[in-house]
Amino acid sequence: MPILPTQQPVEILRHTFGYDAFRVPQEEVIQTLLAARDALVLMPTGGGKSLCYQIPAIAMAGTGVVISPLIALMEDQVNALRQAGVAAAALNSSASPAESRATEEALLQGCLDLLYIAPERLLQERTLNLLQRATVNLFAIDEAHCVSQWGHDFRPEYLQLRVLHERFPLVPRIALTATADSKTRAEITERLTLQEAAVFIRSFDRPNIRYHINSGSQGARNALLRFIRDRHAGDAGIVYCLSRKRVEEVAEWLQGEGLDALPYHAGLGIDERRRNQQRFQQDEGVIIVATIAFGMGIDKPNVRFVAHLNLPKSIEAYYQETGRAGRDGLPAEAWMHYSLRDVVQLRQMIQQSEADLPRKQMEGHKLDAMLALCETTDCRRQTLLGYFGESLSSPCGNCDNCLQPPATWDATVAAQKALSAIHRTGQRFGVQYLVDVLLAREDPRIQQQGHDRLSVYGIGKELSANAWRALFRHLLLRGLVEVDHDGHGGMRLSPSSRPLLRNEEKLTLRQHESPVPRQREQRPE
Ligand code: ADP
Ligand code: ZN
Repeated sequence: MPILPTQQPVEILRHTFGYDAFRVPQEEVIQTLLAARDALVLMPTGGGKSLCYQIPAIAMAGTGVVISPLIALMEDQVNALRQAGVAAAALNSSASPAESRATEEALLQGCLDLLYIAPERLLQERTLNLLQRATVNLFAIDEAHCVSQWGHDFRPEYLQLRVLHERFPLVPRIALTATADSKTRAEITERLTLQEAAVFIRSFDRPNIRYHINSGSQGARNALLRFIRDRHAGDAGIVYCLSRKRVEEVAEWLQGEGLDALPYHAGLGIDERRRNQQRFQQDEGVIIVATIAFGMGIDKPNVRFVAHLNLPKSIEAYYQETGRAGRDGLPAEAWMHYSLRDVVQLRQMIQQSEADLPRKQMEGHKLDAMLALCETTDCRRQTLLGYFGESLSSPCGNCDNCLQPPATWDATVAAQKALSAIHRTGQRFGVQYLVDVLLAREDPRIQQQGHDRLSVYGIGKELSANAWRALFRHLLLRGLVEVDHDGHGGMRLSPSSRPLLRNEEKLTLRQHESPVPRQREQRPE
């Protein structure tokens, strides 16, 4: 179905996709590509990134090539497009040779509006040659944060996508992601040679999602059940768990409680996975209990809640996972219950992974930021958006901390002790060492440095090691201290710690319901 290049974007929006109006910044992005200029689009999940490249690809003569990392996601998109009457196809390993040949033929004939390709397939010389013989009107690089080595979805093939710029210098490229921190953005720009691209950033705020975060060593499942029964009876939702085993236990347990819950994880057979996903997508009120393998490519607008029975490993992951709730803009909830065991387990996973040291440290910092979000007594939304470099001028009124201010304690004196410990030990030691000094632990390193003779040695015995670590995380989150990313995670004071040290400012922290007894506390690292 060849489409006339004269078709206006807004006509395609209405007639092909059935929507009345563009969302910000879809129209501008489309105009950018129509003018043959590159674009970098940072928009939260559910924001409407796909139309940004689908519409110009349809509007222009030739084919828009979409690079997408997940085959399942690709197939969903292709099916949806075909149903809307768009000539779309995918080239990937799950197609038969005959299907692939037909797709290639259609491409060369100029009969395809959109062609989805996995990066590894695209990078094959054969595919690049094929594309050079076709008329490509744009390249869309979806999930562009996969190019970031520090991100949680790094894919080495993404690094090679810069060949697109070299081999097709006249074809506009659009990179899209829902990860917006400035570091990832810089990496995408640099690694995909997008220095000339127009940049579009939409707020990451999802005002219709209400955030709740609870902690405690037990009672998570019952708390979940109460949450679902009281607030989401009959609603569709996703429950995330860390392990496959736990997914199965929780799904079975919820079924036993009379709820329509289904498991989803990579260890299930492909048929069962597909079946469960389909029921979730098509039926009303299904609850999917899943590992994080579930979700990319899920396009269900009326998911009313996303629950986490474990701590996500980073704020990025938390944001993406909770972002699957309320895509229709109606009220939705993100609910989490985590325990200190999760923290220990995640730290072990990081320690025992194959990654190199800098990466492990980066993952450790990301986990710390996640924990700081959990422990904050401030507005969750302000903290969350702050992490992504965005500021919200006043507390949101739609998170647990805003709705029910938590019990707190005045941590000013403790913070002053922590800051002094950093200062007196020469601003080069990591959290563990500093905690050891505050608690006067006998450690040959401390003696060697002569730090057992400092005034700060042993001045922190009123708090447990975990409480001190939580405090250091807060100092970090609030920018009162900084950490060396190069070497050993050494901490130093930042200028903004001065008012606190001079007693001109207070620090207030969340009171944990059940402080961890000292003797049971775990020592990471
Ligand atoms: P993203 O890729 O940013 O996560 P999608 O492109 O999947 O988001 O879009 C999310 C949802 O919003 C989809 O259901 C899509 O059809 C819908 N959508 C996108 N643009 C519009 C629009 N202009 N008007 C109404 N709905 C839209
Ligand atoms: Zn709030």
